[in-house]
Amino acid sequence: MDLILDNLTDPQRAAVTHMDGPMLMLAGPGSGKTRVVTHRIAHLLREGVPASQILALTFTNKAAEEMLARVQQLAPGEPVWMSTFHRFCARMLRQYSSLVGLQENYSIYDMADAKATMKRAIEVSGISLSHTSLDQIANAISHFKNQLLTPESMEGVNLPAGKMLAAKVYPYYQQLLLVANAVDFDCMLLHVARMLRENPELREALDSRFRYIMVDEYQDTNLAQYAIVRSLSVVHQNLAVTGDPDQSIYGWRGANLNNILDFENDYPQVKTVRLEQNYRSTPNILRVADQLITNNTRRKHKGLYTHNPEGAAVRLRIYANGYQEADDIADQIVEQIQNHGRSPKDFAILCRMNYLTRSLEHSLRSRVVPYTIVRGVEFYQRKEIKDLLSYLQLINNPANDAALSRIVNTPARGIGKTTMDRVMLFAARHRIPLFEAICRCDEIESIKPRTRGLLKRFVGIIDSLSRKASSSLEDLLRFVLEQTQYSDYLRFSTVEGEDNDALANVDELVSAAVEFDRQHPDDGSLETFLEQVALISDTDAWEESSDRVTLMTLHAAKGLEFPCVYIIGVEDQVLPHHRSHDDPMQFEEERRLLFVGITRAEQTLQLSMAKLRSARGSMRPAAASPFLLELPREEMQVIDAHQPTQYGDDNDFDVDVEYPEAWDMHADHDDDLNQLPPEERTPETTSTPRTAPIASVTTAAQMLEQQMANTIDP
Ligand code: ATP
Ligand code: MG
Repeated sequence: MDLILDNLTDPQRAAVTHMDGPMLMLAGPGSGKTRVVTHRIAHLLREGVPASQILALTFTNKAAEEMLARVQQLAPGEPVWMSTFHRFCARMLRQYSSLVGLQENYSIYDMADAKATMKRAIEVSGISLSHTSLDQIANAISHFKNQLLTPESMEGVNLPAGKMLAAKVYPYYQQLLLVANAVDFDCMLLHVARMLRENPELREALDSRFRYIMVDEYQDTNLAQYAIVRSLSVVHQNLAVTGDPDQSIYGWRGANLNNILDFENDYPQVKTVRLEQNYRSTPNILRVADQLITNNTRRKHKGLYTHNPEGAAVRLRIYANGYQEADDIADQIVEQIQNHGRSPKDFAILCRMNYLTRSLEHSLRSRVVPYTIVRGVEFYQRKEIKDLLSYLQLINNPANDAALSRIVNTPARGIGKTTMDRVMLFAARHRIPLFEAICRCDEIESIKPRTRGLLKRFVGIIDSLSRKASSSLEDLLRFVLEQTQYSDYLRFSTVEGEDNDALANVDELVSAAVEFDRQHPDDGSLETFLEQVALISDTDAWEESSDRVTLMTLHAAKGLEFPCVYIIGVEDQVLPHHRSHDDPMQFEEERRLLFVGITRAEQTLQLSMAKLRSARGSMRPAAASPFLLELPREEMQVIDAHQPTQYGDDNDFDVDVEYPEAWDMHADHDDDLNQLPPEERTPETTSTPRTAPIASVTTAAQMLEQQMANTIDP
């Protein structure tokens, strides 16, 4: 039996055995796209292509790991480089940092660091925030970067008024990042794209190093990612991309559907493969998915059929309130486990926003059903964890201003805001990092001698920590804890009852360090650890092997599959998100998000809504999502589980309620790589990326086209 080529349909096999030249695989969910990618890699290896010449890029670390494991099963041997775009770029930047003005030990800023830096940039640039907000500026700058616009290339570009201020802040922000030897997430892509564009020899070398490139979930690439992939496939055009335009859900991060739609124009020699047989879901589930997605106007019709058995009808449940929804779902899961041989890991509960899972957690816990919340990013956002990581970051890269600002006075050392303002001024004037400015505090006349003494003591602490930089990560972390007396600080500074949590988190971080040391006996460095932490995404916390019910957002569920799926909170203003109503493009993206959720299900699927939902401690009425009205309800099992409750009858409420702006402020970061999730975007900036292309977008694309023309056909 041939593990690689048996058990494939003819079109799948044709794609797997395709060797040289560009290939586009356009196919619906569950049709085996990811499977083809892994089998194709195994096939290339078997045909003698060295592992080092193959690069596979995807969107979550989890997907990359799974693909790697699968390839190892099919073709054991030297591992192939499989990675997310960001991880790939992180590695490239380490190697070629000097080409973009960075040093090898550069830091990766998360959203919080980036925003703190942006705040400084706004102060330095003297711009008033009265007509805009930090979020709007952050979103606009992210958008510039995703469109490959550098501060220099933006000169003379016509911008709508809303973006003018951001364009003014942008150069200052980039300058601060450079001084701090740091990048934000968008920068990583931008730097690599630029590096490849501006260094033809390097581009050529990498093009021939990575002869075979595969990109899964290509529908979610943005211009920067597109540019990177294209510049690596100029001479060796063995680029295979797979995707499903109906599953494009990252428009808010600049993903450009045209990248997939234009692939055939970009590579006229392309071999196009279409897969139409779905192996994942029952016909019932597929019909519901199909009927929903046909409501999108911007799409090409795709036929999808399955030979799987009909299965149970898709359920649509209307609950009186969120608690009833949570209890009922937990009861159903218990019943399925007890009487139908299911295991907890067969179940996934998906939602638009993280806050919706809170009642479910409670209901599952009270029934002793093990569950896991896929929320990897959150742990690393906790104050105590960020503080400790900031020490490590500063040891690794003393120029890291965001880390320094965070811990210079944590635990308290008498270094107050006035002192830091003076340090910042001095640093800005000399274009040096804050740590260097502190080292030179004798030159800052406005700082009193006593305070200078405190600053020097701080420098002493960091110096002594830095001397330990090459110890094992566990030793280093324990040394940081001891030298800074951080645990004591936590014990004394937190409100009674809360400190246990924080201390437990610190222990968890130490465990993570121990685990890292164990996994990297030879190649573990502080830098690698910090990079790993910085690039953690939501799906990373999810362990497929553990037998638990999975709770996650729809964004995080991309590419995954589960026997039984529940999608909760299918309510107007939630899914579709209330900020998407005025923008047809965004509205269609919300529909695709539900489509992604539905198509994760293999055997059973339940969609539900609650007529009353609690948010921020009060109950509010909720109306059905307009998407529910688009489903083939005649073939679904619709159950109105509504019973009057202590919260009263929903009829007392007007269902067309206006939701307050703060409605979803509790929403958690639900995207991978910790970028700004859709629910935290401001109305203005959410609509800008995907409304009619603004002048700058066209310019960037044209610019890229031009660059390509120059580099491709000399
Ligand atoms: P998505 O768009 O959701 O990412 P996909 O197109 O990548 O879906 P896969 O995840 O590769 O689909 O495949 C879906 C399921 O179908 C997997 O469990 C896969 O193993 C199975 N499958 C695909 N093709 C076959 C086949 N020819 N024979 C048996 N099982 C298959
Ligand atoms: Mg897939």
